Amino acid sequence: SFQDSDKTTSTESAFDAPAASRLVMELRGAFATGKTRSYDWRVTQLKALEKLLADHEPEIIDALRKDLAKPPLETVAYEIAMLKNSSKVALKELKHWISPEKVKTSLATFPSSAEIVSEPLGVVLVISAWNYPFLLSLDPVIGAIAAGNAVVLKPSEIAPATSSLMAKLLGDYMDNSCIRVVEGAVDETSALLEQKWDKIFYTGNGRVARVVMAAAAKHLTPVVLELGGKSPVVVDSNINLKVATRRIIAGKWGCNNGQACISPDYVITTKEYAPKLVDALKTELEKFYGKNPLESEDLSRIVNSNHFNRLKKLLDDDKVSGKIVHGGKKDEIKLKISPTLLLDVPRDSLIMSEEIFGPLLPILTVDKLEESFVVINSGPKPLAAYIFTNNKKLKELFVRNISAGGVVVNDTTLHLAVHTLPFGGVGESGVGAYHGKFSFDAFSHKKAVLYRSFIGDASVRYPPYTSTKQRL
Ligand code: NAD
Repeated sequence: SFQDSDKTTSTESAFDAPAASRLVMELRGAFATGKTRSYDWRVTQLKALEKLLADHEPEIIDALRKDLAKPPLETVAYEIAMLKNSSKVALKELKHWISPEKVKTSLATFPSSAEIVSEPLGVVLVISAWNYPFLLSLDPVIGAIAAGNAVVLKPSEIAPATSSLMAKLLGDYMDNSCIRVVEGAVDETSALLEQKWDKIFYTGNGRVARVVMAAAAKHLTPVVLELGGKSPVVVDSNINLKVATRRIIAGKWGCNNGQACISPDYVITTKEYAPKLVDALKTELEKFYGKNPLESEDLSRIVNSNHFNRLKKLLDDDKVSGKIVHGGKKDEIKLKISPTLLLDVPRDSLIMSEEIFGPLLPILTVDKLEESFVVINSGPKPLAAYIFTNNKKLKELFVRNISAGGVVVNDTTLHLAVHTLPFGGVGESGVGAYHGKFSFDAFSHKKAVLYRSFIGDASVRYPPYTSTKQRL
């Protein structure tokens, strides 16, 4: 599974536990002044973030090119535009989100009124991953700011160009008394995790998520864990095959060459339909990425040699030998792997026992499509589940019986772009959710407030507890 990050700590920039403790104290001091609570501060910071994005698009594109050879269009559409949209939504809705929500009261408290007040949690930590390094860092930060918190961001060291660009830009544009970036790998993150935070928002793999949750437990700190899993795609035969194929490709190879948490991990279709689907995928893949996809500028590379070797191992597994029906080409120097289809791999092969997170797509076959439910439900709950079908009954059954972070019918990955939907996992794919109002809620405490006056002071609640009172 995902490997530990390389230790990249240099002595000159050592960020240890005492340094982390000083940082948290400093931010607690700033939070205590009350400045982050003000509506104006939140708006100013969100606008500063918007300006940062507008001013530095070329540098962001360039950093992601360095870290992942990410195609500029993917950077603009899936990182920058998504962030612009998140801050736009937050700015538009903030007044409404921060207003106390009036709720009904009960007879027992009559006369009274009640409301739910959203208050900031305090000083929060965001630890993010390398695959969408800009989006996954700043999208939670938008939620943290909107909710009125002070925030420390720890970007992934595996995308170093983006990490240092973010450190510089947030340093230049944001209020550094309350918003800070700490760059680093395991040592720095461990130093941060020793501190008491008011919330930890972690994006990454499940193994490190356990480290994060254990560290948080010491201080009773609540967590959001945005993790991954094996997101399936079920393909029926009564569909528009061309459209389905293109949408599967867009969600797999068109999302950072499969290095996306909600990319299709594997496909399930019927034995009968599999050859048609494989042919269609091959045809469209060639249209999109040409005859030699290793040369295509429209495919990200594998992020580093650790991940390249991890993927290579999945292909070298004896159990999948002879199962590659398309692609399988590798360039170890450029860290590129071509879009690869594997047909009928055994369920106990390595590739079917861990999240693939790369350009390999196994296609499993079943006699009847309903059997796909058993296959999916026999594994950990995925972050996303997709189905392509025109069968109304099957759609309903899928939505009802498949437990996943999110479900999309007749497309892949697009639920991520709907800010009115919560984005998060279930079971092994995560804890908590964000996006839109859900981001605001993830970084807020919902304080219950009951207002009473001095009238209507019923005596039944006061001793002596007479038998008459007891009967009431
Ligand atoms: P990663 O290697 O960048 O790790 C994530 C973060 O954890 C980094 O900031 C890293 O410094 C830190 N980290 C690593 N080892 C640590 C340790 N021992 N102690 C403390 N911190 C440590 O990213 P990754 O884990 O390779 O990311 C890929 C995984 O993340 C996949 O499982 C993917 O599905 C999941 N993911 C989920 C989402 C989502 O939104 N749900 C988004 C992207 C990725």
